[in-house]
Amino acid sequence: MSLLVKGGTVVGPTGTQVADVLVEGEKIVAVLDPAFSQTITVDEVIDAAGKYVIPGGIDAHTHMELPFGGTAASDTFDTGTRAAAWGGTTTIIDFAVQRTGEVVQDGLAAWHAKADGNCHIDYAFHMILGGVDDDSLKAMDQLVSDEGVTSFKLFMAYPGVFYSDDGQILRAMQTARENGAMIMMHAENGIAIDVLVQQALARGETDPIYHGITRPAALEAEATNRAIALAEVAQDCPLYIVHLSASQALEHVAAARDAGRNVFAETCPQYLYLTLEDQLGAPGFEGAKWVCSTPLRSKHESHARDLWKGLRSNDLAIVSTDHCPFCMKDQKELGLGDFSKIPNGIGGVEHRVDLIYQGVVDGQLSLERWVETIATTPARMFGLYPQKGIVAPGSDADLVVYDPNATTRISVETHHMNMDYSAYEGVEIQGGVGTVISRGEVIVADGNYHGRKGRGKFLERGLSSYLM
Ligand SMILES: [Zn+2]
Repeated sequence: MSLLVKGGTVVGPTGTQVADVLVEGEKIVAVLDPAFSQTITVDEVIDAAGKYVIPGGIDAHTHMELPFGGTAASDTFDTGTRAAAWGGTTTIIDFAVQRTGEVVQDGLAAWHAKADGNCHIDYAFHMILGGVDDDSLKAMDQLVSDEGVTSFKLFMAYPGVFYSDDGQILRAMQTARENGAMIMMHAENGIAIDVLVQQALARGETDPIYHGITRPAALEAEATNRAIALAEVAQDCPLYIVHLSASQALEHVAAARDAGRNVFAETCPQYLYLTLEDQLGAPGFEGAKWVCSTPLRSKHESHARDLWKGLRSNDLAIVSTDHCPFCMKDQKELGLGDFSKIPNGIGGVEHRVDLIYQGVVDGQLSLERWVETIATTPARMFGLYPQKGIVAPGSDADLVVYDPNATTRISVETHHMNMDYSAYEGVEIQGGVGTVISRGEVIVADGNYHGRKGRGKFLERGLSSYLM
């Protein structure tokens, strides 16, 4: 099967060019000046004139089916990867979980069992370490060398659930420094946050907005700074701060990067577009829709503006979604009358490519930086490059034909995620995903879905290409 994506503007991290993309089987075999492809015969031609041709999106932070707070994220690997495909994402990196006291490899096996045969697009795993001890440190080496899992997430938040203390974090960082893995950090001071939560509840402050008020930016900044210091002590262990939302945390990341440290960070669309007051502070219980951690920040401060600037300057390397959807009915409702019982998470895996493209329209990012933050850098950061993340000969034919003349209106009525609301209800994007190709197969075209569950493959990842 051969395919020619014809006449589009191919966008990569280093520039744009009008070119034809020739696909044979699952791979891109050439990116051609249109004058040279006139004589080529192919099985199928996709007209991309007037449109952008970009590498398929890579969402490096998703939580399909994650058990949390007495329930589980409402998208399965089936529904979540299908929704991702609709939105132009052709690879996800999800988080396998080692619960405290559990063998790391058993946790990984459990996540393979959930995903295997159910994914519509390619997928890989990071590993959450819920208990750092001698056995799990040994397991880190084994996952890096044999399992294609080269990044490990630790939590400075959620005491009693995923929390690691500073000694555990340091030991995991020292191990990562040896085996080349990336340490990913949920950087919030969970011990202090739990005190603020108990004090708020004791005062009768139970509405969803108190979720944000009890997780102040200062405690994200403090934890970010502490993680950076611990990584320095671990001989500059590579560190990746997940879902960074506060300006003060970004300042610590920027300072570390200016000092030449192996410190990276991502943010998420919710922190670029949504706020503590307008969403989390919605009347009654509605704010529960936007309970996530780190929380949405105040619109009266400069967070969103600073995050866009961080994306431009590469102090923020990646936009991921932290996709962790819960329905209002029966799930978010667990926290009626007590915000601390609202499951933490927002669904957005379907909308990331669009929402960050809107940043291009709004003059926040260049086209090149759009592609870099949603596809190329995630591939390079997490050992998938150049198989993924670039439109180039030899790479997997994961392509999105993106139409800058389309309009996309985000709504629960039209989205494909398994959620009974949209966190971005009514938001209009001045652009839209047209055709989506995954390893040479057209899975979305003309508003129709042609993919299928089980076609997505597990990807064994190498080490980050940013590190020596
Ligand atoms: Zn997460």
